[in-house]
Amino acid sequence: MRNKHVAVIGAGLAGAVLANRLVQGGHRVTVFEKSRGSGGRLAASRMEQGSADLGAPWLEATDDAHYCGWLSRLRDEGLLLEWQPRVCDFDGYPQRSQRVYLARPSMSGLTRVLLEGARLQTGTRVDTIWPEDEQLLLRDEKWQPIGTFDAVVVATPASQAVPLLEVVPRFARRAAAVVSAPCWVLLLAFSEPLTIDADLVVGEHPVLARVIHDSAKPGRNTDDEHDIWALHTRISWSAGMLEQPQDQVERQIREAFLQQFSISQLPVTSRLHCWLYGSHAVRPQPLLWDRHLAVGACGDWCQPDGLAGAWQSAERLADRMLAEWA
Ligand SMILES: Cc1cc2nc3c(=O)[nH]c(=O)nc-3n(C[C@H](O)[C@H](O)[C@H](O)COP(=O)(O)OP(=O)(O)OC[C@H]3O[C@@H](n4cnc5c(N)ncnc54)[C@H](O)[C@@H]3O)c2cc1C
Repeated sequence: MRNKHVAVIGAGLAGAVLANRLVQGGHRVTVFEKSRGSGGRLAASRMEQGSADLGAPWLEATDDAHYCGWLSRLRDEGLLLEWQPRVCDFDGYPQRSQRVYLARPSMSGLTRVLLEGARLQTGTRVDTIWPEDEQLLLRDEKWQPIGTFDAVVVATPASQAVPLLEVVPRFARRAAAVVSAPCWVLLLAFSEPLTIDADLVVGEHPVLARVIHDSAKPGRNTDDEHDIWALHTRISWSAGMLEQPQDQVERQIREAFLQQFSISQLPVTSRLHCWLYGSHAVRPQPLLWDRHLAVGACGDWCQPDGLAGAWQSAERLADRMLAEWA
């Protein structure tokens, strides 16, 4: 086997899982990430009161036994903690609760562990992949070359994958056909604990999809004096607010929350984020790997089920790449 140098574009769960498998298979991996850190939609936001999950709040078991096995292994290794949030609906009725898995000290911590052994280059937005002399040349958004590689994997959300995958037009067409949906997340920190009798509130609400008590999660390093809540908005509401000024969006989410739970206390800190590609409406894709060009793609737009889909698509692709290079 010849040791390959692989570039992975995107340090979310899919990119991190793929990088981890390739490193364990004896290959050299460089991961390019446009943001300041890894995690993608598992990102956390640092506030004065500690960091809180800004993206997916947890990982949960699905009916995929391999994925569940992976979660259990990470739990046994102490990398994930189990948590059973107390759940109710927006009318206050208790709902069935499912055990979930949390990374430490926030969800992005999982990607940091998976990326150990790979070289992570943050703050670098890859703009093009160009075949050159039997290798693949990457350029950044200023058209500067950032390296040549034996293989490249695009692990970004579908819309951001389209221009990168122009090098394999049939993959670009697949990515372009995927519909994504936005989601606003508002983190609010309060100086006194709120009297909401649940860790997770779900159900019918015109603005809010989920209300999560971030401070109730075990293994967090938030200070004990503050109470942090994460508010996720409904897809339909989120889409209608994309053109609105941020302060107006924030005010509407905050008011919806305070009114819903009759809270008179005002938050001491807030953090608003819009996930333009929060989720994808996905039909399973065939494996996206072009063995002649050595270009592939993975991510939650390739397999259904959010995080489970991101993981599955990365695992399948890693299996194929490692088998081919064995
Ligand atoms: C608010 C919210 C709540 C969610 N809740 C759940 C849940 O409860 N359960 C669940 O299963 N899923 C949930 N999800 C979805 C889940 O987070 C995603 O399915 C999963 O994290 C996707 O992982 P990924 O690696 O495919 O993509 P991402 O996490 O999006 O990673 C892609 C990375 O690529 C980077 N990137 C993009 N373009 C470039 C470029 N040109 N150059 C370099 N880097 C680039 C991005 O910055 C990003 O870090 C939620 C998502 C959000 C936003």
